[in-house]
Amino acid sequence: MTKSAMLMVTVMSGMGIIPLSAKDAGPTVTVYLDYDARVPATSVFRATRQASRTFAKTGVNVKFQNTRNRQSDAQPGVDLNLFIGMDAPAGIASAALALAHPYRQDGRIEVFFSRIQGYKPVECRDVVLAYVITHEITHALQGINRHAPTGVMKENWSREDLKKIQADKLEFDPSDAGLIHDGIERRMNTLQISKADKMVR
Ligand SMILES: [Zn+2]
Repeated sequence: MTKSAMLMVTVMSGMGIIPLSAKDAGPTVTVYLDYDARVPATSVFRATRQASRTFAKTGVNVKFQNTRNRQSDAQPGVDLNLFIGMDAPAGIASAALALAHPYRQDGRIEVFFSRIQGYKPVECRDVVLAYVITHEITHALQGINRHAPTGVMKENWSREDLKKIQADKLEFDPSDAGLIHDGIERRMNTLQISKADKMVR
């Protein structure tokens, strides 16, 4: 609705400018989401909404969309793929809650819900899931193998960090926002190159 409305405004005013609202919103990341039937839909809904709010603080618009509703004529931007499964595959360290592949173009992220399920009360479980998702999406966006000294991107969260997570107050380290934006730019450029490549063939 908003897209067609904006287009109409542009045509009617006779100016071929990019609507300010779209330009100011920052880069958009679409996370295509699928999850195991045993994972409560309410947890997924709460956690993804929370993750979007955390990313908004870094000026990045992260939208979640069900994989089944995937559109082929996707808008320009970065696409990632998130699967919330129950159990980790064999060979994954027992302390790992999730997995991202920072160097893979499809931005595949897997979360192991059975390892998050134990957090109580339930509200805490959902917010832990939110921060796990945020952490892994950040790996995929930054596209490098690194952890930060503080905050969301720490390799291991301390008891203090978990308290902040439960209060929904864990922040990104100051070094993270710039790396997220750099990574998105790199991904967008690679995307354009691969599209141009396809046109030549
Ligand atoms: Zn990590």
